[in-house]
Amino acid sequence: MNSKETRIDTKCVQGGYRPQNGEPRQIPIVQSTTFKYDTSEDMGKLFDLEASGYFYTRLQNPTNDFVAAKICELEGGSAAMLTSSGQAANFYAVFNIATNGDHVVASASIYGGTYNLFAVTMKKMGIEFTFVSPDCTEEELNAAFRPNTKAVFGETIANPALTVLDIEKFAKAAHAHGVPLIVDNTFATPVNCRPFEWGADIVTHSTTKYMDGHGAGVGGAIVDHGCFDWMAHADKFPGLTTPDDSYHGITYAEKFGLGGAFITKCTAQLMRDFGSIQSPQNAFILNLGLESLHVRIKRHCENGLAVAEFLSKNDKVEYVNYCGLPGDKYHALAQKYLPNGSCGVVSFGIKGGRKAAEEFMKHLKIAAIETHVADARSCCLHPASATHRQMSDEELLACGVYPNLVRLSCGLEDKEDLIADLEQALSFVK
Ligand SMILES: *Cc1c(COP(=O)(O)O)cnc(C)c1O
Repeated sequence: MNSKETRIDTKCVQGGYRPQNGEPRQIPIVQSTTFKYDTSEDMGKLFDLEASGYFYTRLQNPTNDFVAAKICELEGGSAAMLTSSGQAANFYAVFNIATNGDHVVASASIYGGTYNLFAVTMKKMGIEFTFVSPDCTEEELNAAFRPNTKAVFGETIANPALTVLDIEKFAKAAHAHGVPLIVDNTFATPVNCRPFEWGADIVTHSTTKYMDGHGAGVGGAIVDHGCFDWMAHADKFPGLTTPDDSYHGITYAEKFGLGGAFITKCTAQLMRDFGSIQSPQNAFILNLGLESLHVRIKRHCENGLAVAEFLSKNDKVEYVNYCGLPGDKYHALAQKYLPNGSCGVVSFGIKGGRKAAEEFMKHLKIAAIETHVADARSCCLHPASATHRQMSDEELLACGVYPNLVRLSCGLEDKEDLIADLEQALSFVK
């Protein structure tokens, strides 16, 4: 059966790797840095990108490619690659098309690490970012573009603010300006949302989160939909539409077409030069997580909703952000983009500010304090004193993170136990 004929649950279990007669049932871990060839001509063809094949695991490894192929099928893309982390995935996805002197429009409601990557580190590389509210009007969004804008970036469900991106609105603006929309789909996962179906062009993941799902391996992925026409905007994307001297003058968009140009360039140039490859061991562990992703996500969502409902009725709680709740600001967008559920992460504010939030967290017994989310084990974090520590109060408010905000990632435990734990910890808040 090819992947077009199967549903998402079957793709989670069996996608990407289809063993032939007598081959291993589980994906093999190809624990080898290098690959052997009979002649120098054979190897030369690989270096010219004339033939496909493996030569060095800093660029590509078969284990990684089996797993990338599964994620590609899950998202409905044309090509995909794994990276060593979600940070590497977002950096590569943007840097593959934007360089010194370019500009990118990004939602202000994004992961703190991504914000720092964009606003501080990539800025030093000469790439300017304009951050817009995910709730901005079409006029405000269009006003953020400049002649040198090369991409638009957002998160389906933002970590930790839990805003929901109006993917169609952002895709429409991106395409009107001749640039692709990159969507970080980490929190929703392709089980709950496939951004390509709403107009996104590139999808990224921190596979460290739900995809791995067990807090076992850091990783990332980039998937290309294969529909953005680089040649139609050739002047904006010279890296894809003019010859690459480091590969004897091939032009990616011509040689690899719509479906292959982006990921081939990203592998051949960025992976070659920066080497943020995922280890084949981690890729194997990631695949074990993917095999149960569809089963686990349902449970994470069920627990998330139950906890959000409980918190929203508790008088020590000032506000609850969970787009699955009917009163939530993003409920309507969630019904459109996330009809089967959102994720297991709930954020909420404890009455009494920063101090009360810290006091409450100290008493939790099941949810541990961790810089992590989307794990089988429940965990929680106070972003203002951890991941978002480097931001000023104004910056915190702009990205939807209040000083009393607690981010709780509901794991796969019994929801009644999770609620009982929250209840006893809240009793300590005066
Ligand atoms: C965690 C996270 C990242 C960064 O991923 P790492 O695997 O930790 O490098 C990027 N985006 C989102 C939405 C995340 O939650």
